[in-house]
Amino acid sequence: MVAGIDVGHRHIRVALADVADPAAAAGHPAPPERIELRADLPDYHGVSEGLAAAARLLDEALAQADVRREALRGAVVGLPAPVDLETGAVGASGVLPGWVGVPVAGRVSEHFGVPSWVDNDATLGTLAEQRWGALREVDDGMFLKLSDGVGAGLVLAGRLYRGPDGTAGEIGHVAVDPGDRFAAVCRCGHRGCLETLVSTRTVTALLEPLVGARLTVAEIVARARDGDAPARRVLADTGHHVGVALAGLCTVLTPRRIVVGGELAQAGDFLLAPLHAALERAALPGSTRTADVVTAALAEHAPVLGALALALDRCAVGP
Ligand SMILES: [Zn+2]
Repeated sequence: MVAGIDVGHRHIRVALADVADPAAAAGHPAPPERIELRADLPDYHGVSEGLAAAARLLDEALAQADVRREALRGAVVGLPAPVDLETGAVGASGVLPGWVGVPVAGRVSEHFGVPSWVDNDATLGTLAEQRWGALREVDDGMFLKLSDGVGAGLVLAGRLYRGPDGTAGEIGHVAVDPGDRFAAVCRCGHRGCLETLVSTRTVTALLEPLVGARLTVAEIVARARDGDAPARRVLADTGHHVGVALAGLCTVLTPRRIVVGGELAQAGDFLLAPLHAALERAALPGSTRTADVVTAALAEHAPVLGALALALDRCAVGP
């Protein structure tokens, strides 16, 4: 068995699959049969807390699969922060503060007693969509994760582009209006980053005072469907901001398809239509002509499935 683990800012998912499953082989068009479990995590959790939750879910998944812990051959962990592929450590001090400077891959290996690897969650989401989802057979495309954290993965000329140290794609920290001295301060230390405008945290915080209660993204989308004007406005503005931030990238890289994943993807056209409109408006005329904007085929499962895909590849059994 191999495990994929997706650690979010406020959640964790674990997926467990059998390396010997024929559907686990590279080239199979759909994800293999798996056991997938999810739990909430407290905001600003640290490594120990995150790993303890991962171990708990993994043990539960192994029990459900009716196999012992010794059957585990490897694990890949996705984190919502730039990850240095050489050291397996989290970079950018403010993005995931409880995990900074820790050689996460080593800690995971120690914890589970198997080889482990760490990667960025949006990169893993891209990998999953490329293998089993909306980026199949797309040579130039992009996966966008819109959740508590905002990140992206790039596919260029048929290959996943990671950048020289594996940290490419941090679109959440692109300043939408770098000249705005009063823009919100981001956890990375800059002002006016895309993430400060469009994270699930911001989206819910904009509407909660009107409702007088805590809201989930699903509840906001339901309100928008019922015709609630503030909910529609917030989702539309969110899509607009993302489109503005993406426009320059689209002009330069001319992707064919932009796949929107993460929790906010469930807003569908309430968010995607304004995103597309902003892209067309801000990008060089003609440069976005062929880029379609679609929701992720694997929905919020993309990062954990990408972790599973990488674990399957790393631990593949020979013929
Ligand atoms: Zn930032």
